[in-house]
Amino acid sequence: MGCRTRVMANVYDKDNEIVTGRGNLSFTSINLPRIAINAKGNIDWFFEELDRKVAIVFDQLLDRFKIQSEKTVRNYPFLMGQGIWLGSDKLGIDDKVGEVLKHGTLTVGFIGLAECLKALIGKHHGESKDAQNLGLEIIGFMRKRADEASKKYGLNFSVIGTPAEGLSGRFVRIDKKKYGAIEGVTDRDYYTNSFHVPVYYPISAADKIKLEAPYHELTNAGHITYVELDGDPMENLDAFEQVIRCMKESGVGYGSINHPVDRDPVCGYTGIIGNECPSCHRTEDDGQGKFERIRRITGYLVGTLDSFNDAKRSEVEDRVKHSVGSEDTSDLF
Ligand SMILES: [Zn+2]
Repeated sequence: MGCRTRVMANVYDKDNEIVTGRGNLSFTSINLPRIAINAKGNIDWFFEELDRKVAIVFDQLLDRFKIQSEKTVRNYPFLMGQGIWLGSDKLGIDDKVGEVLKHGTLTVGFIGLAECLKALIGKHHGESKDAQNLGLEIIGFMRKRADEASKKYGLNFSVIGTPAEGLSGRFVRIDKKKYGAIEGVTDRDYYTNSFHVPVYYPISAADKIKLEAPYHELTNAGHITYVELDGDPMENLDAFEQVIRCMKESGVGYGSINHPVDRDPVCGYTGIIGNECPSCHRTEDDGQGKFERIRRITGYLVGTLDSFNDAKRSEVEDRVKHSVGSEDTSDLF
């Protein structure tokens, strides 16, 4: 369920705070921009409504957990039958799996923190320090609610920055119909992924990393930060290393550097290809087919964008590259 998924803490069994043999049982995502639009600038109302939405999600996750708990080992012949899931090796084929499923996580996710902040105070967290503080308050609030639920039920409630392959387009389509095209909120084909600074916003790699890093600690069920680099990182290993070190020092739990990789399907050359393949010197209009331009869409590396939905395609087209340099970031931090 998403390469970013992270399973670590275990309130059900403190001796098994491990990553193997467990997983996320299900997650449900909250449409943050929608709540922010309805708040009409009233921050207190926003938090009250977010609180109600989180409560609904927890009820739904518990409901679903009950249904999952009624299943037997026989229903999961590989996961439980082969003893892959923690504790399942002690169960018989007709035993219910509810007790061992408690090792898993029940997760609330979210999308569009950037658009949510735009709707609330007119700026997203890349644009203003106030927006960043409010963003941390919002996700911190969700995390607090998840921690409280963990304590109350003895189950692993947690928060994820939802991958949202499908949701990114779906929610904004519905909201655009309902509220019209609101500038910076519903006027694109997608909502920004999780807590990310919008892909279209020009910002240096270092600034983007430092703004997104604090959300990693809050989203204990999963998170990722992307940096888009131009050109071939092999040609500039220092810049590549600088980005990795910055991620590590800022507290990024899971980071990814996206850079162009092209492939000529005819001769098999992999690297950066301009108009002409550096290996066999053919061009795309020689009738033998196009070069593959590998790009990352959420967790997937794809050669062409054809198989992705319009929202994700439009997001990829909007992406700006992040410069690696020593810009002055003192005004931000
Ligand atoms: Zn070639």
